[in-house]
Amino acid sequence: MVDLQSQYYKIKPEVDNAVLNVMDSAAFINGPEVKLFQKELEDYLDVKHVIPCANGTDALQIALMALDLKEGDEVITADFTFAATVEVIHLLKLKAVLVDVDYDTFTIDIDKLKAAITDKTKAIIPVHLFGQCANMEEVMKIAKAHNLFVIEDNAQAIGADFTFSDGNVKKSGTMGTMGTTSFFPSKNLGCYGDGGAIFTNDDALAHKLRGIVNHGMYERYYHDEVGVNSRLDSIQATVLRKKLPLLDSYNEARRKAADYYDEAFAGHPDILTPARAENSGHVFHQYTLRILNGKRNELQQFLAEKEIPAMIYYPVALRKQKAYYQESNDADFLNTDKLLDQVISLPMHTELDDEQLKYITDAVLEFMK
Ligand SMILES: *Cc1c(COP(=O)(O)O)cnc(C)c1O
Repeated sequence: MVDLQSQYYKIKPEVDNAVLNVMDSAAFINGPEVKLFQKELEDYLDVKHVIPCANGTDALQIALMALDLKEGDEVITADFTFAATVEVIHLLKLKAVLVDVDYDTFTIDIDKLKAAITDKTKAIIPVHLFGQCANMEEVMKIAKAHNLFVIEDNAQAIGADFTFSDGNVKKSGTMGTMGTTSFFPSKNLGCYGDGGAIFTNDDALAHKLRGIVNHGMYERYYHDEVGVNSRLDSIQATVLRKKLPLLDSYNEARRKAADYYDEAFAGHPDILTPARAENSGHVFHQYTLRILNGKRNELQQFLAEKEIPAMIYYPVALRKQKAYYQESNDADFLNTDKLLDQVISLPMHTELDDEQLKYITDAVLEFMK
């Protein structure tokens, strides 16, 4: 699915050198590399504050912690996403309200989002799934009208641009109250271990977040709130400093592979290629087809026999998961339920060449003919 090794070999001398320098410096935690990466990412995103932390799940949890919500307050998010998004809502004893997604973009359905708002709703977590932004123009309008916080789960879309109708362009993760991301190795900007970050333009929130990631300490050994221990280490930061300048070219390589796939499958009656939203760029964390002839699982099997990995993201609705079960009317989740049966993600990474792409698309078309 992902070829991290070839990508590493292309930058191996610089990265190895940088990592060895950190080893020499012995500044493993909170070293200068972390501060420098923070600053460079702030510049890249054009956001005032980046708060590095240990992983993307922590980033979501810490962002929610900073909002001082009360037990039972409602947080609306999508039913079709990676479990981390709802996991943290449950961990904090908030109430997750899962809603359907748009069939074409796989991101939160705006009408369903509106319908889910109650007087207990405090926050929305739009997920920029598979590399494309949720409709942030509408999400922000709704948030403003109802005085809600917005945390963008940007683990899959770092580097994507969103264009508002007034022409204003923003990077994914910088439009809401806060944005969060993950530097898990297979993400678009991945380190060589775990890592994550929170973004915000709000000074007071940034201050609070910097305390929460560090045991709630604002002054050494004075704990003003209950925090956590969640840090990006210096080795991961130095790797990320080498990779950040390449992020746009990495995303471009993903888009090129997506273009190849799009062209190969164009017009096929039983294959829907990923929609490209009008107002959002796409950085193709995943390239996800919808298979309309009911043979998605057989296709996955067929590809596996040809040693082509293909994955089902995601096979089960979060509202039906044992841990996150939500009483619901299936009629309100028609898109999610359709997608669970139709989606299949093809290999997608920065190192796909035309030969590999041809092998993959030929195999898909051979099965689907
Ligand atoms: C990967 C991911 C996360 C969690 O990131 P980790 O660094 O693995 O904790 C959260 N949300 C989404 C949508 C993700 O894809």
